[in-house]
Amino acid sequence: MLDDLPRNLKDRLTDPGLLPGQGDFAGEGRLAVRDPATGDLVAQVAISDATGARAAVDTAQAAFPGWAGMLPQDRAATLHRWHALILGAKEDLARIMVAEQGKPIGEARGEIDYAASFVQFYAEEALRPNIEGVTSHLPDAEMELWREPVGVAALVTPWNFPCAMITRKAAAALGAGCTVVIHPSAETPLSALALAELARRAGFPAGVVNTVIGDAATIVGEWTGDPRVRALSFTGSTEVGRLLYRQSAGTVKRLVMELGGHAPFIVFGGADMDRAVAEAIKAKFATSGQDCLGANRFYIQRPVYDEFCARFTKAVEKLTLGPGMEDPDIGPLIHDRAITKQIAHIDDAVAKGARVLTGGSVAEELGPLFFRPTVLADVPDQAAIMAEETFGPVAALTPFDDEGEVIARANATEYGLVAYVHSLDPRRIYRMTRALQYGMVAVNRTKVTGAPIPFGGMKQSGIGREGARQGLEAFTEIKYVCRDWA
Ligand code: NAD
Repeated sequence: MLDDLPRNLKDRLTDPGLLPGQGDFAGEGRLAVRDPATGDLVAQVAISDATGARAAVDTAQAAFPGWAGMLPQDRAATLHRWHALILGAKEDLARIMVAEQGKPIGEARGEIDYAASFVQFYAEEALRPNIEGVTSHLPDAEMELWREPVGVAALVTPWNFPCAMITRKAAAALGAGCTVVIHPSAETPLSALALAELARRAGFPAGVVNTVIGDAATIVGEWTGDPRVRALSFTGSTEVGRLLYRQSAGTVKRLVMELGGHAPFIVFGGADMDRAVAEAIKAKFATSGQDCLGANRFYIQRPVYDEFCARFTKAVEKLTLGPGMEDPDIGPLIHDRAITKQIAHIDDAVAKGARVLTGGSVAEELGPLFFRPTVLADVPDQAAIMAEETFGPVAALTPFDDEGEVIARANATEYGLVAYVHSLDPRRIYRMTRALQYGMVAVNRTKVTGAPIPFGGMKQSGIGREGARQGLEAFTEIKYVCRDWA
């Protein structure tokens, strides 16, 4: 399959072996992978069907006792080797990601570091004691809690972070002693296959890591219905999350769901405006706006509203747009549905009274998937952009008057992933962080993620947490043992 690849991607890699061209249990079907910057065919990947998806579970199930029974230090050593191989292949992995996902190469390199950090973290966490004693409430009884791996875990990931969303799940599951079946998004199979190839080289025993490419509904549908799959960890849209939640009910799986977000970005009068503007740019335009943590609604207190609008717009106008390999600030969007959504949200907001301060259109000179970074001001709460994920480089700004009002408006959403607050008043910060119904609250900064923190959302942004010690929970069961030696 490697020969199907256009020379340009092959030539850009020092190790073309990172492009195996097919997943596990592949059949005759083919999936075309295209470069969002150019529309060029990047690869044809052989795909699996329902039979292949089932075979992956057979294999993972067969490998489970051996992997779960291995000494933790041996499992950890395998994860450490995978970590080193990922970092060693950083440049190639970043280039593969740019070719299929489009993100700027600097961001792609950053994602590889982020992806690798989960593997290192869970290699270490795999060694921590997983037995707790309980102070007995029964005479002559001795009590312990053991944490045991659940079994086969299915991992389903999106295209916006093609490597990190896989390792955030896989490293935790593997560290806990589970075996995994992985289904990446159809837009970004090459990054998943490269990680799988590195896992093979790291020496995971056969059947422990299985990567299955194919039609999502077919492959994942097979797994949600299979009683041998004991956990499902999904990252993607809330809409698909709801569907998989229902599908998993029949076999009562352990679930982790990292779903959509609709982050409010709140700036109070008296905030450090230089910082607020700089952090707002990061919160909106990282990953070209295609980020579950992306700020969708900007609430600016009225006395500083005009100043913020002017300074933010000036900063947005300096952002560069271009193909990922040129390392611009913003790359192409993933597909034409994303472009349609930007335009629909802008048109709807303008029809309801918003003003376009900058941007608002496709940068045709670069290609059909490049959208100019856009700022909308005076966006009313009734506009679709204030409720639905835009998932692109369009910022919606609106003024507010007081704290109670902005808390109510910020919480008036089905989502609850992350909220950003800018203020220098410690009492206000305390009240805001208490009142915001979000799994993560960032104060006077944007970057909050990393392997040691429990990432996740409240309300319909998800179930459970990933990263940190908490990231192991969905992949383990508690077994309570009560002994009497008498
Ligand atoms: P998506 O829901 O369309 O797809 C995610 C995954 O689900 C893909 O692997 C896809 O193949 C699979 N899938 C799609 N339809 C399916 C079906 N009918 N049955 C089974 N599987 C199916 O999401 P996306 O467009 O790839 O990613 C963007 C979304 O992901 C956004 O909503 C974003 O907020 C969310 N996201 C959340 C986080 C987080 O950690 N909370 C991180 C990144 C992205």
